[in-house]
Amino acid sequence: MPYRAAFRCIAGCPGEISIWQPIYQCPRCGGLLQVVHDVDALRARGAADWKRCFDERYAHAAKPNGSGVWSKKEWVCPELRDENLVTMNEGATSLLRVERYGRAIGVEDVWVKQCGLSHTGSFKDLGMTVLVSVVKQMIGDGARVRAVACASTGDTSASLAAYAAAAGIPAVVILPRGRVTPAQLVQPLANGARVLALDTDFDGCMTIVRRLAQEDGVYLANSMNSLRIEGQKTLSIEIVQQFGWEVPDLVVIPGGNLGNVSALGAGFDLMLDLGLIVKRPRIVVAQAAAANPLYRAYRNQWRFEPVAARTTIASAIQIGNPVSVEKAIRTLQRYDGIVEQATERELADAAARADRAGLFTCPHTGVALAALEKLAARGDVGKTARVVVISTANGLKFADFKVAYHTGRLPDVDARHANAPVELPNDYDAVRRAIDGVTEGHA
Ligand SMILES: *Cc1c(COP(=O)(O)O)cnc(C)c1O
Repeated sequence: MPYRAAFRCIAGCPGEISIWQPIYQCPRCGGLLQVVHDVDALRARGAADWKRCFDERYAHAAKPNGSGVWSKKEWVCPELRDENLVTMNEGATSLLRVERYGRAIGVEDVWVKQCGLSHTGSFKDLGMTVLVSVVKQMIGDGARVRAVACASTGDTSASLAAYAAAAGIPAVVILPRGRVTPAQLVQPLANGARVLALDTDFDGCMTIVRRLAQEDGVYLANSMNSLRIEGQKTLSIEIVQQFGWEVPDLVVIPGGNLGNVSALGAGFDLMLDLGLIVKRPRIVVAQAAAANPLYRAYRNQWRFEPVAARTTIASAIQIGNPVSVEKAIRTLQRYDGIVEQATERELADAAARADRAGLFTCPHTGVALAALEKLAARGDVGKTARVVVISTANGLKFADFKVAYHTGRLPDVDARHANAPVELPNDYDAVRRAIDGVTEGHA
């Protein structure tokens, strides 16, 4: 059975557009596009069959099944020829139960989906593998693409640079100068991308890259390109699969440009359409209070207005005018959605609290955890609910934030869980005195 996928306008304009065209918006109304699959063809194989097939493939080393994305290729990009697969075995990340943290916040069944364990250290790999593979096939079929380019708050550029390097395609990344961490900046440099640090914020970088795509033959790699969403949607499929095809009650995800939440919904939608699941989880988007346009819309009957994003430690979601806001709102309306926000202090303390239970969370995961703590405190999530928190990036990319927190140098944050190093002379008694009391709080 041949499976196929095409672009279609999210606002419902008629007609389909080939995914092998460099196009990011509906030519009629300018709205975003989404990828639609031939669901009838996919349905010809029963739900039980799909589950068995995906379980057999899961995390096998052989290409392409080492990838959490390409082991579900029929649901993602069925017409990609194997020779054009650009994969770094992304996804297939751990889903980890965090018992001590759950107990501390009064929710027993909390799990963290560790997307930061993926190849470049964030969930962005899930979408980038699809986008770069499609570009490779387009070029192989004769399309002229000068370079693949993105605006980025850090993680997108790291991911684009790695996949473009693996494919041998030139990459251009445009970053707001001084607003990404050194670890994030060095990733695209190391992978040989042309890195442009602009004197503007993320939203300013986005405006420039969209113009490059329109006028200068550059292929756009931001998440308004819905090929990215196709890869990212395997996130929800993978979570359900890891629970033995059971749906959690609540999923919490930190949102910036808001492609990720629509991707999460798209994965659940397809599983529902094909009968692999029958229940919907509730979806919670968590935003930094400093960059909270979706939170404001939620509190205002979904009437959206862009904001000027203020500086936040959660730099990857410092976005005031999210490109995928319409898709995100549609998703939240289908999934009984909630939007919550976290201040700098709340996100830093929540990240530190989770670290005390053995994690090493990035600040964006801190935003998600802080949102969960607020929901738990006001009873919006039950004590026994099964909750999955999407950890979007690896904490090691944000070590400066941890150092500042634990040494009391984060502005506006009076760090509740700070744990500064104790400096001592080379003296046994001083050491012995310093470990007095170390068992406190560890009963
Ligand atoms: C990109 C990113 C997000 C937000 O994802 P969107 O799709 O832009 O909403 C959250 N956390 C991290 C670490 C990211 O890199």
